[in-house]
Amino acid sequence: MIPIGIKLALNRYCQDNSGYCLKDKVVIVTGAGAGIGASTAYAFAKEGAKVVVADIIEDNVKKVTKRCEEELCAKSLGVHCDVSVDEQCKSLISDTVSKFGTIDVLVNNAGILTFGTLLNADIMEPYDKTLGINLRACVYLTMLATPYLVQTKGNVVNISSILGCTYSGNSKYMPYCISKAGLDHFMFGAALELSPCGVRVNNVCPGPVKTEIFSKAGVTGSWKEIGESFKLTDMSEPEEIADLIVYLASYKARSITGVRYYIDRGHLLMG
Ligand code: NAD
Repeated sequence: MIPIGIKLALNRYCQDNSGYCLKDKVVIVTGAGAGIGASTAYAFAKEGAKVVVADIIEDNVKKVTKRCEEELCAKSLGVHCDVSVDEQCKSLISDTVSKFGTIDVLVNNAGILTFGTLLNADIMEPYDKTLGINLRACVYLTMLATPYLVQTKGNVVNISSILGCTYSGNSKYMPYCISKAGLDHFMFGAALELSPCGVRVNNVCPGPVKTEIFSKAGVTGSWKEIGESFKLTDMSEPEEIADLIVYLASYKARSITGVRYYIDRGHLLMG
C-alpha cells in the first residue's frame, strides 16, 4: 500500500493509474492501418491517448480509427498518407496539430520489405523505394514534428528490425537491412541532438512478427515455416511489439533515450 501523501506526490507527475501517463497525449502512428501499427494505435488508445492513424491504405485507416472509437471511445484522427511523399507528411503534421493542438509521440512504423541483389542487377529500384519509406520518411517526419516534441518534451519511437544488425544468412534482404541500419544510426544522432531539449528517441527492433509484410513481399508458407527459416519455433504477435512501443513512449521510460530494444524470441542469440 502506498501512503496517500506519496500517492498524491506521484500523481503530480502522472495522472493515471497505469503509470504510463499517456492519457490525452497526442500520438501519431504511421503505417497504422495493419500489423504492428494497427496494434500500436489500439494499444495507445487503450491508455487514453488521442491517436492519429496514418496509412497509405485509406480503407484500413477507416477500419482502425473506427475500432479505436467504437471499442475504446478513443479520440482519434484518420489520415490517408503516403509517408514517402513530402507534401503528405506535411499534411499529416498540420492535420494533427489542427485537430489536437500538439504532438507528444511520433511512432515511425510504416515500412515495407523488398528484395534485391547485385548479381541479378536488380537492387536499385527496391533500394530507392525501401529507403524512401523505411528511412527518409522517418527522418523527414521527425524533423517536422521536432518543434512540437520540444514543446511537449515528447518522444519518438522508430520501428527498426533485428535486420538492422544482421542478415539472417540471406543477402537478398540487402535494401531492407540497409534501411534499418540507417534508421538505427538516425535514432542515435536524433537522441543525441534532442536530449538537451528533453526529447527522447528510441528504436524497437523486432524479430519475425506475424504480419502481412511477408506475403506483400512475396514470401509464402505457413507462420511455422517462416519462423523456421529464421531458426525459430514460433514468431511474435504484433500486440507484443505494441506493448514495448507503448512502454518506451510512456512516462515509465522517462530515463530511456538513444537505445535499440530487440524483441526477437532469441533469434539474435542463435546467430
Ligand atoms: P504490415 O505490412 O502489416 O504493416 C505495414 C503498414 O505500413 C501497412 O498498413 C502499410 O499499408 C503501411 N505502409 C506501407 N507503405 C506506406 C507508406 N508509403 N506510407 C504510409 N503507410 C505505408 O507490416 P508490419 O510487419 O506491421 O511492419 C511495421 C513495421 O515493423 C515496419 O517498419 C517493418 O519493417 C517493421 N518490422 C516488421 C517485422 C515483421 O516481421 N513483421 C520485423 C521487424 C520489423
